Amino acid sequence: MGLDLRRFAVRTVYRLLLNYIDKNVYSPLTRLSSRRIQRSDMSRISKIKGFFDLFPPESTVYVFMEETARQMFARYAYQEIKIPILEQTELFARSIGLETDVVQKEMYTFQDRKGRSLTMRPEATAGVIRAYIDSPASGSGNVSRYFTAGPMFRYERPQKGRARQFHQVNVEMLGEDSAFADGEVLSMLWSYLQNLGLHKLNMQINSLGCAKCRPKFDAGLRKFLAGLDQNSLCTDCQRRAMSNPMRVLDCKSQGCREVASKAPLILDSLCTECRVHFRHVLEILENFNIDYELNPYLVRGLDYYQRTTFEVISADIGAQSAVAGGGRYDGLVRDLGGPDVPGIGFACGMERLALLLQNIQERPLDFYLAVLHQDAMEKAMILTQRLRGKGFHGEMGFQVKSIKSQLRSANKKNVKTCLLIGLDELKGGQVQVKDMSTGVQRAVSQEDVEQALGLNLKSRAENFVHH
Ligand SMILES: [Zn+2]
Ligand SMILES: [Zn+2]
Repeated sequence: MGLDLRRFAVRTVYRLLLNYIDKNVYSPLTRLSSRRIQRSDMSRISKIKGFFDLFPPESTVYVFMEETARQMFARYAYQEIKIPILEQTELFARSIGLETDVVQKEMYTFQDRKGRSLTMRPEATAGVIRAYIDSPASGSGNVSRYFTAGPMFRYERPQKGRARQFHQVNVEMLGEDSAFADGEVLSMLWSYLQNLGLHKLNMQINSLGCAKCRPKFDAGLRKFLAGLDQNSLCTDCQRRAMSNPMRVLDCKSQGCREVASKAPLILDSLCTECRVHFRHVLEILENFNIDYELNPYLVRGLDYYQRTTFEVISADIGAQSAVAGGGRYDGLVRDLGGPDVPGIGFACGMERLALLLQNIQERPLDFYLAVLHQDAMEKAMILTQRLRGKGFHGEMGFQVKSIKSQLRSANKKNVKTCLLIGLDELKGGQVQVKDMSTGVQRAVSQEDVEQALGLNLKSRAENFVHH
């Protein structure tokens, strides 16, 4: 009897505790339910600020950027990978650096139901490295080449070409530290941007030194900054001057820029290995006719870069608009608990690129099949399915309408050819084929429709047209 009572007491306490957790820990849900969401509530739910829906023609531009990357990078032996959007917060704090704006001010961080701190990735490199360390590839001793594309999240003030959910095409090469690796990655990036149709490009490049020469430079810079009137730096940089002095060099505020112009330059204090490496990278860029410019103030916003860092600027958007950037991060894999494997990579900001690629459209449909009598509907569907199986892009109208209104819809869809099938065609085993650009119409046997449409099987990249 006493045991039963105790069991009852324990159960009651346990139930009360669960109730408490439900009410207080899962408060976001509780708050929702207290507002009594009802199925009958028909009000519209708006999207979150800084987040955007993409429809054609915008979404077409994004698909074009990804498809072009997929096809091009495959030629360089890059494998496409898919990695999680959510990671442990610690991954970004340790790789990007605690002192960076990204980690301090811009991450979407929250606790999950078990109280773990999780972050929606603000960039892709850290996640790719974490995944690489978890995979057999990291122990293979081979060079690994990865490409991934998808959304990133940063809590920034939304503005033109910048959203809180933005998209990147991302490339990482792991396992090779020679200048040839840098050269391959940089020339692939350059070719990619050119293949997208961008030409007014300029590559800004710098070397940030290595574990051997960088600390000496940092110490010198720290000394230089300490000797200044503190008010000549912005408040962020007064802090950075001690914790991460190099970040002062790429601060956008006027006073800090003046300070930077008198500061010692990293390029002057590179060790011999770093200097030889950098010179070799520049030689490769010259061999490939890549239009580059040395920029000793280019340090990039993330802590993990070493040696080669770069940004590609497009003259079409304006002075400060990098469409891509990246660099070498030789210590990062080891710092995240993996083997001592060097790496280099880049990210292309798809929102910025999209501003430059507004004239990309999907290839028009090859055909529109207009049905002129209800009895022809089944036959039309079979024919449409057959043509799609042969690689043609097209659709059929689901409603029987007059020829005039069918042709009007075909015209609106910008199709090359309109196929018409009515009662006469059904009985005679034929289809009317109308060339929408010339207006010429002729009857062909249903067996010969493919031939009449022209066997223009296209690969995916050709599914787009530049205007
Ligand atoms: Zn060095
Ligand atoms: Zn500053």
